[in-house]
This record gives sequence, C-alpha cells and structure tokens, in this order.
Amino acid sequence: MNFINSDKIRKDFPILHRQVNGKPLVYFDNGATSQKTQQVIDVINRYYQHENSNIHRGIHTLSQEATDAYEKARTTVQQFINAQHSHEIIFTSGTTGSINLVASSFGKKHLQAGDEIIISTMEHHSNIVPWQLICEEKEAILKVIPINDKGELRIDEFKKLLSNKTKLVSITHVSNTLGTINPVKEIIKIVRHHTPPSGEKEGEGAFILIDGAQAVPHTKVDVQALDCDFYAFSGHKMFGPTGVGILYGKEAILNELPPYQGGGDMIKTVTFEKTTYNELPHKFEAGTPNIVGGLGLAAAIDYMNNIGIANIEAYEHELLSYATEKIKQIEGVRIIGEAANKASVLSFLVDGTHPSDIGMIIDKLGIAIRTGHHCTEPLMNRFDIPGTARASFAFYNTFEEIDIFINAVKRAVKMLK
Ligand code: PLP
Repeated sequence: MNFINSDKIRKDFPILHRQVNGKPLVYFDNGATSQKTQQVIDVINRYYQHENSNIHRGIHTLSQEATDAYEKARTTVQQFINAQHSHEIIFTSGTTGSINLVASSFGKKHLQAGDEIIISTMEHHSNIVPWQLICEEKEAILKVIPINDKGELRIDEFKKLLSNKTKLVSITHVSNTLGTINPVKEIIKIVRHHTPPSGEKEGEGAFILIDGAQAVPHTKVDVQALDCDFYAFSGHKMFGPTGVGILYGKEAILNELPPYQGGGDMIKTVTFEKTTYNELPHKFEAGTPNIVGGLGLAAAIDYMNNIGIANIEAYEHELLSYATEKIKQIEGVRIIGEAANKASVLSFLVDGTHPSDIGMIIDKLGIAIRTGHHCTEPLMNRFDIPGTARASFAFYNTFEEIDIFINAVKRAVKMLK
C-alpha cells in the first residue's frame, strides 16, 4: 500500500525542481545528505530575519524568545525518539560529534588498560576512529563483530566476543553502505544478559551506543523501548540543516560522565581555583550552539511526523523492492548487501565496469548517486572490493525516477563494456 502523495510532497522540496546537466534532477544520494523542505528553509530564514539572538544568557526579549524556541526544539527531538527527559537530548554538530563526545567522556571515566570495546565490520569511519583514538590512549582493545556474505551481523560470533572486559558496544542501527537494519533490540538484550557486572556499579555491564545516522530518517526509533545507553544521529540526513545532530544519553549515565569541552554555558561557577559544571544538558553544550540548526531540525521532525514515520518506512520499502528487482535484471549486476531486513539503500557493482564510471555517466543524465567506499573502508575490505555504486532513496523519490535511473545505468554499462 502506498500512503505517500509524492506529487504533493515534492512541491515542498524546491531543489527537486531544478535541472542538472539539462535534465530533471533525480536525487538518489540521500544516504550522504537529504534535501530540505521549504518549511525548514523558512524557519532558517525567519530566524535570521526576525529572531536572531544568543540564547541562555540574555534577559532581553529576543534572547528569551530564541532560548524558548531552542528548548522547544529539544523537546521536539525528545518526543520524536521517546526519550524520558528533554535534558537527555544533547545538541551536537552531528553523529560524528556525538560519538566523539561519548568516546572522549566515556573513555576518561570508564576505560582502563585491557578493557574492550566492540564495534562491527559495517561501521562508518565515525564509529571506528573515535574508538581507535581512545583505545590507543587508554590501552584498551577494539574488537569487531564479523558479518556474513549477505551483510548481516554474525550474532553467534558477537556473543563470543562479550566478556567481563567489555565496557562498551557501539553498533550502527542501519548500515549506510549495505542498508542492513541491524537487530539492535536483540543486540542490546544480549549485551544486558551476557556482560557480567564490571565492578563500577552493582549489576552494571557494558554500555551500548547505537549509531542512528541512517535509521532515524527512515524508521521509528524509541530509545526507551530499545533500552540503549546512547543514541547518535545527524540533522542533515533527516531533512534538517547540516551542522546539527543529537546525542541521546540516559540521564544517570550522562550525569556520571565528565564534560567533553570547556567554555561558556557548560559551567555553574568559574574561579581560577575551581570550576563547577552546569546541569544536563548544558554540561555537554559548551559555547554558542547551532541555534538555527536546532530550530531547523525540529521543523524537519514536524514535517516527518506529519507524513508519518510508518508511511515513510512502508513507501521506501516499496521503492527499494522495486529498484532491487529492476537492477537485478541488468546483466552482470551484483548487489552488495542482501540482508533480509534492509532500509532504502541499494549498493551494487556491474561486472567489467568501475562504480565511479557509472556514477559519472549517469550524473550527465541528471542522476545523483554516490560511488566509493562510503566511509566504510574495512567493510569494503571484507567484500574485497574498492567501493560500490550506491543509490539511496527518501520518501520524496518516485518509481518513475527509479525507471529513469535503471535506464541510465543500462546505458552506462553498455558504454563501458
Ligand atoms: N554513521 C553513519 C552510519 C553514517 O552514514 C554517517 C554519515 O554518512 C555518519 C555516521 C556520520 O554522520 P555525520 O557526517 O553527519 O556526522
């Protein structure tokens, strides 16, 4: 069933009406970043035209209005992912910023030599490198869950990696390269059952971070139902502005962590002898934040809520099935990522061609896809390939666009062979 009115929705996204290389734009690079609705653009314009002011510190009307709007945006995010408290929502610069915050603060507080952190083969570099940095500093060990040939996590192997040395498990909810939707709820349950008390607190096992950068734009996320300790995502991949993202963390855990960066807003009192820190969420939000980014993100969430996340998910599933069927008919095509449970990401290779050549040829026809390693080099090594061509769909894409894309790929393959 199709509950999405694409014609109506597409009118809200001005960029979708432009031409690229003389052809109507077909934008299939949503995994890298999504397009913005007029509603989000209007919020940003209005803010700078009528509302601009710094927040939290001013007593004048503009500052109070901006503070109220920013804190309301925080509540919108809280409700969107069903966090228990709005102060569990930390505004960051994006998923990368959120994961680095946890790696640094968590590492300082909880990691010792010989401790272990578990990630998976399909992680984005931003869920690999921050852990490598902190492991190097603390002499901790990074362990990696293998995947099968379809691009699914080997849960049997994961269980074997867990031990009383495991301090943190950090896994992507949805793979940006394969589209795999990982069974994060099951993973979290396994962690809770398999990691014995670490000694920090009675009954406390490994902590769990979920990288939700590719999940939040496509599927309903409920952090309380998941029972994760941290959840990270980016505004720009969910129709909001760049430069803003979210770290969700459970209140008790965030309260225990040391601040990440020092500066204005994150302090209660400062003397040269001693500084005391502000309460959540401000303890983790040093300096003037991306105020308009927060407002734009809230506008994007309102837009998604209006369409309905379940509708978005169902529609994108249809798009993916349609595109998968069609691309399989091209001779020599190999799909990279054939998990049973997938989000709207289609990575592929065609025998005898290079993905970048396909990308370049179809760009001339106005079609934007991504080619390369997608910031998942270890995953490319696992499949022994240099990269893939990746089409990633959003709810404003159409079946007609998929037809145009498939014809363009066929044409490119013919030219390249
Ligand atoms: N994690 C995943 C799964 C991603 O796909 C991305 C971006 O592509 C990131 C993390 C990093 O997101 P950002 O660059 O917005 O911080």
